[in-house]
Amino acid sequence: MVLEVENLNVNYRETTALEKVSFSASPGEMVGIIGPNGGGKSTLVKAILGLVPIEGGIVKFRDRAIKKQMRSVAYVPQRAQIDWDYPITVWNVVMMARTLHTKWLRKPSRESQQIVKSALERVGMFKWHSRQIGELSGGQQQRVFLARALAQQAELFLFDEPFSGVDKATESVMYDVFAELKQNGKLLMVITHDLGTSLTKCDSLLLLNKQIIANGSFKQVITAENIQKAYGGSVLLFTGEEV
Ligand code: ADP
Ligand code: MG
Repeated sequence: MVLEVENLNVNYRETTALEKVSFSASPGEMVGIIGPNGGGKSTLVKAILGLVPIEGGIVKFRDRAIKKQMRSVAYVPQRAQIDWDYPITVWNVVMMARTLHTKWLRKPSRESQQIVKSALERVGMFKWHSRQIGELSGGQQQRVFLARALAQQAELFLFDEPFSGVDKATESVMYDVFAELKQNGKLLMVITHDLGTSLTKCDSLLLLNKQIIANGSFKQVITAENIQKAYGGSVLLFTGEEV
């Protein structure tokens, strides 16, 4: 197991967001994090990143505390949480990933420039490199953030609702890149807010509503009982089937 989360608790002032969350995941896996709105999905990812204080619990990556290995963890936040008016070019958004490796004030190395260029090419966004990020469509912005994650050359990738509001072309670029990352032994954790086709791309699912309701294969997780527990009612699947 490359990622081990044990007994994680997160409380915001009046809200318990996560309670006794434990799970583990292996390299080369894509784990889908699902659950109702407010179920703690974003909080789980932020807790793994150390962006919210955790009370009790441990997050270990490669057998060590994850805190000192942030360079190996790439994060793409929910689109709604990003300030798109911030004046920065596409190129510099992706270059930010390299400053973890070099330093801000130092001129980016030739190697970093090459890595940024190929990351942008990989997601079909190189020709937009000098555009302001705020001038792009939602799908294009999402691809630029994917490029940033790639340029970081991380081992663990955390995506918060990457499929929300993106066009089909972007979606298929993302699926391709995710498959490639998996093949290279990376671990991907992907939050999805609906029970859409993206679930079929996941190797395992984590159904979350404060606590982990279920964790395992699609068949193990998507049962009427689990869905009732997590959502308090039935839901409509992408197959048209009601669970
Ligand atoms: P999800 O991503 O599954 O929709 P979140 O992790 O965003 O869920 O939220 C889990 C719970 O924690 C919700 O009840 C939400 O209102 C609350 N919450 C999230 N962020 C904060 C915050 N910064 N301060 C206070 N409460 C928060
Ligand atoms: Mg969320």
